[in-house]
Amino acid sequence: MCVEPARHSDLAMPAIEGYAAFRDALLGAGLLVATGVRGLYGRSGLFERVCEGFDALATREARRVAQGSDYEVLRFPPLIHRGDYAKIDHIRNFPDLMGSVHTFLGSEGEHMAMLEKFEAGEDWTRSLRPAEVMLTPAICYPLYPTAAGTLPEGGRRVDLLGFAFRHEPSDDPARMQVFRQREFVRLGTPEDAIAHRDEWLARGEELLARLGLQPKRVVANDPFFGRGGKLMKATQREQELKYELVAQIVPGEKPTAVSSSNYHLDHFGLAFGIRSAGGGVAHSACIGFGLERIALALLATHGFDPKVWPREARDVLALD
Ligand code: ZN
Repeated sequence: MCVEPARHSDLAMPAIEGYAAFRDALLGAGLLVATGVRGLYGRSGLFERVCEGFDALATREARRVAQGSDYEVLRFPPLIHRGDYAKIDHIRNFPDLMGSVHTFLGSEGEHMAMLEKFEAGEDWTRSLRPAEVMLTPAICYPLYPTAAGTLPEGGRRVDLLGFAFRHEPSDDPARMQVFRQREFVRLGTPEDAIAHRDEWLARGEELLARLGLQPKRVVANDPFFGRGGKLMKATQREQELKYELVAQIVPGEKPTAVSSSNYHLDHFGLAFGIRSAGGGVAHSACIGFGLERIALALLATHGFDPKVWPREARDVLALD
């Protein structure tokens, strides 16, 4: 399928199709910077301004809708305690995506042995041992362990931003191994969580449409691992626990999720002992916006030069 690449200026974006061609065009334009690892890129100043523009837009929107019950702003490093990681079932469901931090904890003698292997070009990584942290697979995961106990009346609304890691090397520039999610999380009763999910999905659609994207809401599933994962995927879809807003990013390929919203039921409430003010196990829901994917969708839709983007998108993102 041939996709019309740029409405506003044929010069703004070359006619390209397919993952590798789109990635190479982004690298060629200097928007992303290659590191030698698939899915791991530096970002240019322009790329960052687009990401920051959407981030600021999300901040304004969260303030606008908060109506006296402001979002608590929390920022966590992109690492999670290994013990907390063990409580969230990630190792069962997504073993192929995890990232573990290892370091050297040995004696001087063991150091010499490691160096010998290193100098000889042999595998020295077996001399490493796990540190007490894992890489964060989703921005909201570090929040739940810190929310243990009873929630205040009305529950909590939390605003998060950070880098997530997923080990899925790919030529698709939208499938980065390390990327930012801007998340809004609700902790409270089942009704609180479902209302949050539904309100933010509608809000997300509206925000993306204002930028000139044409997001579509779809019921989705996570990429659960292996044969057992099939049942998990089916259950997740059946219960409509995960929705995505998808938009066209890579010309000639399927639309990509730029936002995803998850209703976790009482999964995190049970795992970390979080109770709602009424005493029941807390339910939670989150919506995450992928900053890099939104920037890529905008570049793909409007062209590589924001000067030719539609006026409203430029204004909303404060690109002038
Ligand atoms: Zn989340």
